[in-house]
Amino acid sequence: MAVDSRAWITIDRAALTHNLGVVRSYVPQAKIACAVKANGYGHGVAVTTSALEQADAFAVATLDEGLELRRLGLTHPVVLLEGITSDEEGRVAQAHGLQQVVHARYQLQILQQLPPSAPIPVWLKVDSGMHRLGFDPEEMAPLWREVEATPQLQLQGVMTHLADADDLHSSHTREQCARFERAVEMIPGPRSIANSAAILHWPQSHRHWVRPGIMLYGASPMGQGCGSDYRLRPAMTFSSRLIALREIAAGDCVGYGSTWCAPRRMRIGTVAVGYGDGYPRHAGNGTPLLVNGERTSLLGRVSMDMITIDLDHLPQAAVGDIVVLWGDGLAVEEVARAAGTIPYDLFCGITSRVSRVG
Ligand SMILES: *Cc1c(COP(=O)(O)O)cnc(C)c1O
Repeated sequence: MAVDSRAWITIDRAALTHNLGVVRSYVPQAKIACAVKANGYGHGVAVTTSALEQADAFAVATLDEGLELRRLGLTHPVVLLEGITSDEEGRVAQAHGLQQVVHARYQLQILQQLPPSAPIPVWLKVDSGMHRLGFDPEEMAPLWREVEATPQLQLQGVMTHLADADDLHSSHTREQCARFERAVEMIPGPRSIANSAAILHWPQSHRHWVRPGIMLYGASPMGQGCGSDYRLRPAMTFSSRLIALREIAAGDCVGYGSTWCAPRRMRIGTVAVGYGDGYPRHAGNGTPLLVNGERTSLLGRVSMDMITIDLDHLPQAAVGDIVVLWGDGLAVEEVARAAGTIPYDLFCGITSRVSRVG
């Protein structure tokens, strides 16, 4: 790590590999397509895919993300979860042997025009109730016959996506699974339903292929608890340093908007990280942090380049000391809840100003 790094993330490859092992322990019979879209959920797609090389496939959102995996030299099957959007994309995906989700009629029409020079592996997606992507259940039988009749199309399987798998009290997941199974009854071949929450909590969704994302990175997809509840280990640690210290008097206020004022004479510190680095602007007073491994909390508003923190009970803290914002020793879920968001959003929000180590 550059000694002058002001904010950096460290990626623990062993944690990524361990977390893939946790997925396997939940679904020993299923194949695993690891979701590495959005630059490996912000972790860096090169380090993530190398730590997850035991994956059976990788899943990304876009064609560009799929091509990046090929540039990295990966020979795994790669699935484009949104499929293609133009003739040109269709040709490129075909040339690179990328698998793709077909969720809409226009995509099928594009693929049917392509030459049968190379096979085009496709997954047909059912809208089982999330109403984001996919075909209506009753369209599936005729669609399947069309795919069978198109020589370049090679059906890999059928899939759907769950809207509420993180809600254990919702009946929607059971309904979606049942609707999906009915829709694909006459179609032979692999089925895929489960994201992380479904892998952890909905065994009926496991089927032939699972598609974990967030749990690989060590975070829980659920509204409560954290990754360690499932033996997951955090892959990303986000850190910065103290760059200033001061004592303020009772009644002195801190930061933009003067939203926090000291109840007594206090020691506070300034840390070189802000929303310009991806630290969440909506993290409130009291959001936890670690200084030299000890817990303390955020005071006042998050600025673009800095935050202020309570050092009153940490008299040893000095300029240059390391502050952990989340990761090793501090669950990202805690920070996400304090900021009114989810770990996915925090991971993907790390900006290019932050250096990457490991
Ligand atoms: C991103 C994504 C996943 C992974 O979801 P997690 O909640 O991160 O496990 C699975 N399937 C699809 C279609 C996705 O887009």
